[in-house]
Amino acid sequence: MIPGPTTLPGAVVQALSRPATDIYHGPLHDVSLDCLQGLSELFGTRERPYIFTANGHGGWEAALCNTLSRGDRVLALETGLFAPHWAETAETLGLSIEVLPGSWRRAVNCEALAERLRADTTGSIRAILTTQVDTATGVLNDIPAIRGAIDGASHDGLLMVDCIASLGATAFQFDAWKVDVAVAASQKALMTPPGLAFHAVSKKARKAHQIAGLRTSYWDWSLRDRADHYFWHSGTPPVSLLFGFQAAIQLIREEGLATVVARHDALASAARAAVEHWTMPGGVDLNVLTPGEQAGTVTVVRVPDGAARPLVDFCKQTFGVLLGEGIGALEGKAIRIGHMGHVGAPQLIGALGCLELGMRAIGIAHTSGGVEAALAALEGFAMEKPHTASGEASVIEISKQKRGVV
Ligand SMILES: *Cc1c(COP(=O)(O)O)cnc(C)c1O
Repeated sequence: MIPGPTTLPGAVVQALSRPATDIYHGPLHDVSLDCLQGLSELFGTRERPYIFTANGHGGWEAALCNTLSRGDRVLALETGLFAPHWAETAETLGLSIEVLPGSWRRAVNCEALAERLRADTTGSIRAILTTQVDTATGVLNDIPAIRGAIDGASHDGLLMVDCIASLGATAFQFDAWKVDVAVAASQKALMTPPGLAFHAVSKKARKAHQIAGLRTSYWDWSLRDRADHYFWHSGTPPVSLLFGFQAAIQLIREEGLATVVARHDALASAARAAVEHWTMPGGVDLNVLTPGEQAGTVTVVRVPDGAARPLVDFCKQTFGVLLGEGIGALEGKAIRIGHMGHVGAPQLIGALGCLELGMRAIGIAHTSGGVEAALAALEGFAMEKPHTASGEASVIEISKQKRGVV
């Protein structure tokens, strides 16, 4: 139950153990094509996506190297740990970095962003870096609103979005939202082991690519555009990971992306309902309190000082449930419940139950009955019968069929 790497579905594990195949001729080419097609569906883009043999940090570096030149300025929008970390990557590449300070409990302040961009009369800021979901804080950013702020300030910088902890779980529309580079990775909501990073790339980003000074052969989009499949991967393809990722895409297609998103939103609302129920003075509290700014993939729970480690240890040692500890400024102050990818009601309800027992055992003030509140949230969700891929079954039924939920 940590916010990545996440639990692998059986179908993915099985695909990972397929024997290796000819990397030059034959079906592997079609596996890559299917993965790229799946990425287009997940990102919501008609442009060609890219697959890198790398983790998320590699995807970050690749986004910068493909579009920028030494000395260019990037503006990172702070809503937690990850956009500022991305900016640190930029600094090592010789880019000039600036962080727009923000709260660790709120989404990007779009007015402050617009104001900063309007002040950039020379257009020195070449890229704006943000996260859709910050995994350290559980903040969900409104990407169309950020785009609106950039356009409202008539600013020309590239909008780069880290959707590593949200793609495949939270609605994302690369083309419609006019994102320039989106970065994702395999090991969060995409249910595949760490080792693949993904890009979606706009026409505007591709134009910037033509004059970018930081281009290197391994990350280079253009070199990966060559016809020979071997070059799509800048060398030997990550064969097993491609098999695994293809199987994960297939699971998402079968469940239906809209249903997958609805499942994540329902689980997130159940997690929040439990925490809100537990909340009392001197006890636990949601890190993000503002509706619409709460992630569907991870819930960050503030805990009394000194309680994070004992709580996480209790759940791990007593019940084998692995929760995340707070990171960055929330280290020692929060725990993180990951609920993304191959996860349903049994895992989440179970984890919340273990947490409640942990609070009892350790003596953290709380109102008991958080699990009941989570059940009530899921019940409400089951009654809504949201849209499904087949249009026949409710989300709960679909989840039951596909994931052994309930
Ligand atoms: C996990 C994560 C990363 C880092 O990914 P790695 O694969 O560990 O390099 C970056 N951004 C966000 C939002 C993440 O959740």
